Amino acid sequence: MTVHLVGAGPGDAGLMTVRALELIARADVILYDRLIPDGALDGARDDALLIDVGKVGGGAQIPQQATNRLLLEHGRGGGEVVRLKGGDPFVFGRGGEEAQLLRRAGIDVSVVPGVTAGVAAAAYAGIPVTQRGMAAAVAFVTGHEDPEKDETQVDWRALAAFPGTLVFYMGVRRLDRIAAQLVAGGRPASEPAAIIERGTFADQRTVSGTLAEIAARAGDAGVRAPAITVVGPVAALHDELAWFHAGPLAGRSVVVTRARAQSSALAGRLRALGARVVEAPAIRIEPLETRLPELAGFDLLCVTSPNGARLLLETARDARALAGPAIAAIGPGTADALRAGGIEADIVPPRAVAESLVDALAERAIARALIARAEQARDVLPEALRERGVDVEILPLYRTVPESLDAAAREAALAADYVTFTSASSVRFYVGAAGAPADGQRIVSIGPITSDALREHGLEPHVEAQEHTPDGLLAALLADVAPGQLF
Ligand code: SAH
Repeated sequence: MTVHLVGAGPGDAGLMTVRALELIARADVILYDRLIPDGALDGARDDALLIDVGKVGGGAQIPQQATNRLLLEHGRGGGEVVRLKGGDPFVFGRGGEEAQLLRRAGIDVSVVPGVTAGVAAAAYAGIPVTQRGMAAAVAFVTGHEDPEKDETQVDWRALAAFPGTLVFYMGVRRLDRIAAQLVAGGRPASEPAAIIERGTFADQRTVSGTLAEIAARAGDAGVRAPAITVVGPVAALHDELAWFHAGPLAGRSVVVTRARAQSSALAGRLRALGARVVEAPAIRIEPLETRLPELAGFDLLCVTSPNGARLLLETARDARALAGPAIAAIGPGTADALRAGGIEADIVPPRAVAESLVDALAERAIARALIARAEQARDVLPEALRERGVDVEILPLYRTVPESLDAAAREAALAADYVTFTSASSVRFYVGAAGAPADGQRIVSIGPITSDALREHGLEPHVEAQEHTPDGLLAALLADVAPGQLF
C-alpha cells in the first residue's frame, strides 16, 4: 500500500519528470488537482480511475476533508495510487499534510518532487531567482495571508528585511497590500518586481514594474491566478533575459466541439499556440455492433472518417481481413488512422469531401463497393456510385450521439472568442447543447458542408478552412487572428 505524492510541474507538460510519467502510466487511481499541465493525464491507463479533486484559484473547491477521505479509501485499496499535484507536492501543495495523514493511517508514501512554479515561472520570464551580486538567498512566501490581519503566519517585518529575492505564491488579489507591507517594512518602493501569470503555459504573461507600481500595473493588465510575484533586484533581469514568447493565439479562447476522443489532438495544437481551449464535446461516438462482410467479393472499400478507420480496424481485428479491395480514404486524417493499423490507402482524393472521392473514382472500373462509415451520413458517395451501376453496400460502424454540457462548460463556451466546428453533426449537437454562438464570437468552419449546416441554423461562418482538415482549420483560425502573417 503506497500512495505516491507526485509533482506535475507548473504548466508546460515538458517539465514533468520521467518518474512522474512512469507512475501516471502505471496508476490504478489518480487523484489530481486542477492546476496540472494540459495533457498530464494522457499517459494514464484507459481503465485507470481519474478523480478531479482540484479547485481553481479561489473557486469552488472540494473540501480537503473529502480529498483526505478519498486518499485513505484508495490508499487502503491496494492498487497503485498517485496523488498528482501542480508544481512540487511539498511547496504550498498540502503534500506534507497529506503525507502525515497517510502515514498515520499506516499507508506508505513516496514523494516525487516537481518543478515548482516559483522557480519555473520566473525562469520562463528570464528571471534567475538567485544571481551573484544581486541575490544570495530566495524565500518562497504564501501571499494567501491577509497582511493586515492581526495574527499572521508571515512575519512581514522580517520578510521585508530578508536579504534576497522574495517569491510569492497565491498573492494576486492581495498584491497591493503585500507591496505596501513590504515598503512599510523598509523595502525600497523602487525595488524591481514582476508578476508572471500562467507561467510556462503557452499563454504566459509577465508584468513588471517597481514595488510601488506593480499592483496597479497587474490590475490594469487584468492579471489573474495562477500567478507568481517576484520581488528583488533580479526581477529587473526580465527586461534583459526574457526569452519565452507566447504563441500567436495567446489571450484567445477557442471552443473545440469535436467528440472528446478526437478533440485532444486539435485542442493540444491550439494550446501549443497559446490558445485557452474550452472543450465542449457536443457529440460522442457510439460504436455499433457490426460484422465485417467477406471482402473478397468487393473491389472497393471506402473509409470516410478517422473514426470509421479506427472502428473498421477494430472490427477486422486482423488487418489481413481487409485484404482484397482497393481502399479509398476521405481526408488525410482517415488515411493516417488506416496507416496506424498498417494499411496504406490506395486512393486519397485531393479534397477531404465525398464529392472529391467521387471525382477521383471516375476512371476506375468498380462492380461492388463497401462504404464503412457512420450510421447516418450524407449519401453523396453511395448515390454517385449507384448511378454508375456500382453495387453499393453500407457498413455502419458508429453513430454520433449528443453529449450534454454542464453549466460551467456552457458558460465558458459562450464566453470564448472562437467556436470551431469540424462536422455538420457537431453543429447540430453543439447548438442543441450550448445554444447558438453569441454575437461577437467568431465561428470557424472546417469546410463547405459544415458551413451549410451552420447556415441551416441561421449562422454564418466567419472563417472557412481552405483545406478541410484540423490542420486546415488551424491555419484558417491563425490567419483570422493575424491576417497576412505567416506562421
Ligand atoms: N505546489 C505548487 C504550488 C501550489 S499553490 C508549486 O510547487 O508550484 C498554487 C499557487 O502556485 C498559485 O496560486 C500560483 O501562485 C502558483 N502557481 C502554480 N502554477 C503556476 C503557474 N503555472 N504560473 C504561475 N504561478 C503558478
